[in-house]
Amino acid sequence: MTDRLTPEQRHRVMSRIHGKGTKPELKVRQWLWQHGYRYRLNVKSVPGKPDIVMRRYRTAIFVNGCFWHGHHVETQNLASLPEITNSSCCKIPQTNREFWVNKIKRNQERDQQNYQVLHDNGWQVIVVWECQLTPKRIEETMLRVELLLNEHFLALHQPKVVPYNVQETPTSIAAEEEHYEKR
Ligand SMILES: [Zn+2]
Repeated sequence: MTDRLTPEQRHRVMSRIHGKGTKPELKVRQWLWQHGYRYRLNVKSVPGKPDIVMRRYRTAIFVNGCFWHGHHVETQNLASLPEITNSSCCKIPQTNREFWVNKIKRNQERDQQNYQVLHDNGWQVIVVWECQLTPKRIEETMLRVELLLNEHFLALHQPKVVPYNVQETPTSIAAEEEHYEKR
């Protein structure tokens, strides 16, 4: 893919990406960029305004904070307050607990609605969680994202692969043998 930006513009973009490397969303962007993937950010025309939009792969990526989006906190559990247990990466405060539970529950419901609309419109939705982006886990996480991107790309384009029939074309080996005999 050719670079549409001038070297100066490219430098500005890259320094912006590298400058604030702590936010989870930026870690994902940075990895994708470094591996040659191009994307758009917060595209309004795409439902749910995903963090990263990859039209070529018809894929929307959401990078979710574990607390605000209730990672590992089951929505069913959220419905009945006493049953709620904190997950390892989403610790709901004890103080004013009902408020926080309701807030996280609403966020989860909105997330699900957005994912459903995207899915119904033929988009692949990938959710990357904050806790999957630690230095130890980021490579594994992003390789998985890359696999999902490429699998979806293949499914979209369905290349017509013609199987190679060995029995019909034995000529290459025969020709080589002849060649050697002549020497
Ligand atoms: Zn998490």
